[in-house]
Amino acid sequence: MKLDLQNNLKKYKRPFLIAGPCSVESEEQVMNVAKAIAAETKPALIRGGIWKPRTRPDSFEGVGAIGLPWLVNAGKEIGVPVTTEVANAKHVEAALKAGVDVLWVGARTTVNPFAVQEIADAIKGTEITVMVKNPINPDLMLWIGAFERLQKAGINDLVAIHRGFSVYKHPRYRNVPNWEIPIGLTEEMPDIPVICDPSHISGRRDGLLNVAQKAMDLNFAGLMIETHNNPDKAWSDAEQQITPIQLKELLNQLVLRKANIQLEGVDFIGIQRGKIAEIDNQMFDLLKERMQIVRDIGVYKKENNITILQSEHWKKMIDQRLAKAKELELSIDFLRSILDAIHQESIRHQTKVMNPER
Ligand code: PEP
Ligand code: MN
Repeated sequence: MKLDLQNNLKKYKRPFLIAGPCSVESEEQVMNVAKAIAAETKPALIRGGIWKPRTRPDSFEGVGAIGLPWLVNAGKEIGVPVTTEVANAKHVEAALKAGVDVLWVGARTTVNPFAVQEIADAIKGTEITVMVKNPINPDLMLWIGAFERLQKAGINDLVAIHRGFSVYKHPRYRNVPNWEIPIGLTEEMPDIPVICDPSHISGRRDGLLNVAQKAMDLNFAGLMIETHNNPDKAWSDAEQQITPIQLKELLNQLVLRKANIQLEGVDFIGIQRGKIAEIDNQMFDLLKERMQIVRDIGVYKKENNITILQSEHWKKMIDQRLAKAKELELSIDFLRSILDAIHQESIRHQTKVMNPER
């Protein structure tokens, strides 16, 4: 089925909602949860994992191809298209044959260009919509590369799912969001809508709303939220799944803000942005002036045979500057990264002064 999500997304009420269980467990389970979701909310897609990439071999690894018609029938019953994860050519073939409407590539697959290529080759020639989750490691290019492989295979209805990035024992997240990566994806590939998956980012029910709200504030197109009629008894990802009623409550709590600002009368944001642009220009002029002084010092160091790096002086200077952080209401980390960047640029200028021929 051609969903043409990239062009039709506006047709759906924001957020574009993908709901359904982490895993398809039985014919009855997926049918009941799909019906309950449709009774409480307006899902755009019903999800259900058929083949589950689990970290340890003894976990539940999905019911396999037998569950495909269960998922497809559940979608038909409520009149909503369905989606499942594919990790190899065999999965693609079976899912297409069973009539799955949308495929998604999981995080553990996006990370592997061989696997993505195998999937792209298997999908070639169809018009199916494919969603690609970010790779488990925070590598924007790898994510972009997966989209490019699918595009080269003629698949153009592509959607991105941001599910966070692997991290060892984080106090708050199962997978850290690194929001700058999905933002970077939108900069590079503006036509690809981005959906956020708060379930896999948060890893726990009480963290879903915060992540979902942040995604809406960053103007993401939609949300994928794992939903189960009896989350505590789910065969996979029990801690993060919620009931259809909880899903409805979560959606009701979301604040949806305007994406495009068209202000009448006094354009407050426009005026403030003008002020910010002016301050940025002043900062750049000051940096230019600072670098001239740095180059003058470079000339002196060259004439007197002094090394560029003066570690002790640098350390003293950093301590003095960072001591001002509190008074400036700026974080120490932020000030430190600015000073490091300025120092690196200064070293570059002095290196050029000392060794102009290199
Ligand atoms: C899933 O959606 O159930 C899943 C396995 O996701 P991910 O690829 O994000 O880990
Ligand atoms: Mn899951």
